[in-house]
Amino acid sequence: MKENSNRLYYWDAWRTSFAARIVETVLQNRKQAVVLDNTYFYPASGGQPADRGWLNGVPVVDVSIRPEDGAVLHWLGDGDLGGEMVSAVIDWPRRFDHMQQHTGQHILSQAFWRVAQAETIGFHLTESNLTIDLNISSLSDEVVRKAEQLANQIVWENRAVHIRFATREDALALPLRKIPPTENGWLRLIEIEGFDLTACGGTHVRQTGSVGVIKVIRAERRKNKMRIYFLCGGRAWQDYEGKNGVVAALMGMLTTGEAELVTAVSRLQEELKQTRRTLKHQQTQLLAAKAERLLASATKLGQTRLVCHISADEDANTLRQLGNQLAQQENVIALLGLAGSRSFLFFVRSEDAPGDMKALLQTAVQILGGGGGGTAVSAQGGGPPATPDTLQSVFNQITQELHKLI
Ligand SMILES: [Zn+2]
Repeated sequence: MKENSNRLYYWDAWRTSFAARIVETVLQNRKQAVVLDNTYFYPASGGQPADRGWLNGVPVVDVSIRPEDGAVLHWLGDGDLGGEMVSAVIDWPRRFDHMQQHTGQHILSQAFWRVAQAETIGFHLTESNLTIDLNISSLSDEVVRKAEQLANQIVWENRAVHIRFATREDALALPLRKIPPTENGWLRLIEIEGFDLTACGGTHVRQTGSVGVIKVIRAERRKNKMRIYFLCGGRAWQDYEGKNGVVAALMGMLTTGEAELVTAVSRLQEELKQTRRTLKHQQTQLLAAKAERLLASATKLGQTRLVCHISADEDANTLRQLGNQLAQQENVIALLGLAGSRSFLFFVRSEDAPGDMKALLQTAVQILGGGGGGTAVSAQGGGPPATPDTLQSVFNQITQELHKLI
C-alpha cells in the first residue's frame, strides 16, 4: 500500500487538479467508468462518500472501488473524454467539506474516549448527516458538553495532522484507537499530534484549525449505544446562520430580545390555554342560549317538540353539539342542517321522543343526493352543495313524514 498504491489522496488531500492516463475503460449497465494510472479522487469507503469532479470537462458522478482488485472506478456522466490523457479536477467544496467533517470525527471520537471511555463503533457521513455511534448506553448532557469542549480546544490549538504508514506488527505496539485489517500488509495511520492516533483511509485536513468548530446537535439512545449527531466547520456555520435567521424572525414577531424568547413563548402558550378555556366556556353558554331559543319556537307534534334549524355559517361540530344539547331535553326531535358547498345534516332526538332518525335521514339524503347513517336516536349525513331553501324544502318533507307518524 505504501509503495505501490496509485491512490494519491493517501498522501495529499489538498490537491484539486492533476493529469492522468486512462488505463482501462469499463462499461456496466450502460454506465461508463475509467481507471486512471493514478488518482486523487476519493472512492466511497470507510463511511465517507466519494468525491465528484471532472475528467476533461466530463462530470465524474461517482467513484467506487472494484472489490476484485481494488481499482478505483471513475463513473462518468455525459460527454466525450477525447483521448487517453485526462486533465482531472476535483469538486473542492465537496471534498473540503468531507475533510472537515472527517477530521472533526477523529477529534470528537477521541474526546468521547477521554471524557467517558466511550468507544466509537460506527461512523456515518452523508451530504446532510454526520454521526458516530458510541458503545455506551447513556450519556449525560454534561458529559456530552465536556467532550464537545475538549474537541473544540483541540481544534483551536491548531494541532498538526500527520499521515503515517505502519505494518500491522508496528501498529499493534502503538496506542491506536482502532486497528482495521491491513491492506497489502500496510496500515495508514492518521495522527492528531499528541491527541489521537487511528488507522484510516479517508481524507483529512493538515491542521486541526481547518475544522473550524465542532458542534454536537443531538445525542440519541439507540438500544445499548448512543448516536451522536454533530456538525463541523462549514456545516456548523450554515446551521448557525439558519438558526440565527429563525431567532431574528422570532424576535421580530414577538418584539423581544433573544434572551427573553423562551419566556415570551411560554407566556404566549399560557395565554392561549386561558383563551381556549374561556372560549370553550362561552361557546357552551352560547349553545345553551341558542338551544333555549330554538326550543321556545319549536313546533308541537302532540307532546313532542320539533326543532328545525338551518345554518349557513356554523360548522358540523357546532351543529352536533347543539343537537346533543337539545336531545338532553324531554321529548325533543331536532332536525339540523348546514347549507353551503358541502351540506351537512344532523337528526337527533331525546331517548323518550318517537321516530327513527336513521330512516328520516336516509329519506333526506336521498332527496339531496348524498349519503349518511346512524341509529334510531341520532344520524348524520350530507355531501352535495345545498342552499338554505333546498334544505328547508327537504325539512318540510321530513316534517310531513313525522306528522304521519305522530
Ligand atoms: Zn479518517
